[in-house]
Amino acid sequence: MNKTDYDVVVIGAGLLGVATAYHIKRNNENLKMMIVDKAASAGAGNTAQSAAMYRDTFSSEVNLQLSSTTVNFFKHVQNEMGVDLSLRDITYLWLMDRQQFEKNKSAIETMLENKIRIEILKKDDIKEKIPELVTDFDDNSEAQMLGLRNIDFGILGYDCGELDADKITRDFYETEFKKMGGETRYSTQITELVLEPEEEKLGIPGEPVGWQKKKIGSAVTSDGKIITSQTFIVATGAWSNELLLPLGINSQVMPLKKYIFRVQHNRLSGFLDNEFFNEEKTTPFFIFPVHGIHVKPVKYNNSIWIGGGSVVGKPFIITNPNKVKEETNPLDDTEANPRDYEFDRYLILSEYLPILKDLPLTNSWAGFYAMNTIDKNPVIFKPIGIKGLQVVTAGSGSGIMKADAIGRIAEALYQNKEVAELYGGVSFKVSRLGLKNRDVDKEFFVI
Ligand SMILES: Cc1cc2nc3c(=O)[nH]c(=O)nc-3n(C[C@H](O)[C@H](O)[C@H](O)COP(=O)(O)OP(=O)(O)OC[C@H]3O[C@@H](n4cnc5c(N)ncnc54)[C@H](O)[C@@H]3O)c2cc1C
Repeated sequence: MNKTDYDVVVIGAGLLGVATAYHIKRNNENLKMMIVDKAASAGAGNTAQSAAMYRDTFSSEVNLQLSSTTVNFFKHVQNEMGVDLSLRDITYLWLMDRQQFEKNKSAIETMLENKIRIEILKKDDIKEKIPELVTDFDDNSEAQMLGLRNIDFGILGYDCGELDADKITRDFYETEFKKMGGETRYSTQITELVLEPEEEKLGIPGEPVGWQKKKIGSAVTSDGKIITSQTFIVATGAWSNELLLPLGINSQVMPLKKYIFRVQHNRLSGFLDNEFFNEEKTTPFFIFPVHGIHVKPVKYNNSIWIGGGSVVGKPFIITNPNKVKEETNPLDDTEANPRDYEFDRYLILSEYLPILKDLPLTNSWAGFYAMNTIDKNPVIFKPIGIKGLQVVTAGSGSGIMKADAIGRIAEALYQNKEVAELYGGVSFKVSRLGLKNRDVDKEFFVI
């Protein structure tokens, strides 16, 4: 075997990349490893743009195992290992009309069977606990034009909440990785993964040709340097296609732009101060009955973060792999479009929460889901026929809450193990998140 600079290079220092690097290094301390990222620090990509919410209110086995083991590990990191992650169970409240409730009934039963701590709230209870919320629109023609649904029920998830994505990325995974001797290199973009013959080069034009066995021998950086490694792990999230498509690898990632809008005003303080739901004495994270619009309460500065909204007709952004060296990459664009608030989310939300009427937008930003459009779950695989390459991507909209499990599954795959052990001793078949024998059960708890 030729001598390489590294045993393992992880490309991408988002939460999935650092979790993967940490678990591989923890189980193989002697490996020479490096994380490389085009940003100036870890977690500066879509991890930084995220709302960083977590939940266990899922009906599918895969979602439940990935998220609950991850969140339990994060709680262990914070409570037993003493790393402050600002993790708080502020609860989730899924608001729905009668029709949505009926549709979700069997999923709710599955969650109760799985001992997920949820409570069903009826309309009167919701109105009493959150007087700011409007629940009925039968006589409101504007609301009907907007397609609003009444609020008849709420599903309250107790073991759901928020954490600081930057803290788990940098204060835990990256810090621990470095303590074990792992290296990091930032402000370094990988522009190409170089396909080579697995054996000696023969000097044939266009090597490696069809019959030759292939490997990734090296990576080229934007400043023209070459990094060699036995294994490269591509954990570049929404940017995955840029390195993989030129190699004929389809990771199923479709980048989808998502906005977060922030409204901060003293008028919100009474609404945010609520004694009924959690120890933080704040209103829960709300999911409204239309278009997955959600509101995250940020009590300490009287603000709310508004996310979600209809994605029908919204484009996936495909970048040209041959042009990634260019300065403006649309996937680096973190600007939100305020008109999407003014003419869409605001019109809907101010009907449900009139307290928002006429309050100005104080901030907004955007990021990209690395969306797996088939089942919205991560994709972890070794491409067939190319040695020295592994892919860990497609966090979709839930990569934060599943990150530790993803890191452990990626580590098991690196070691060619069939089964990964998730936090708490939960066994997970590695191939379930691969492409060839993928086995992700359908999620039924969707509004
Ligand atoms: C608006 C929004 C809200 C979200 N809310 C939630 C939520 O509440 N809960 C939840 O669980 N998830 C949420 N998510 C999803 C979550 O943020 C992602 O699933 C997760 O952060 C993905 O991590 P990652 O490491 O795969 O990607 P990223 O954090 O994007 O990391 C990829 C890294 O690769 C680097 N990179 C890319 N190309 C190259 C290259 N060629 N060379 C070197 N480096 C490169 C980038 O700089 C980046 O740092 C949200 C996402 C968005 C956009």
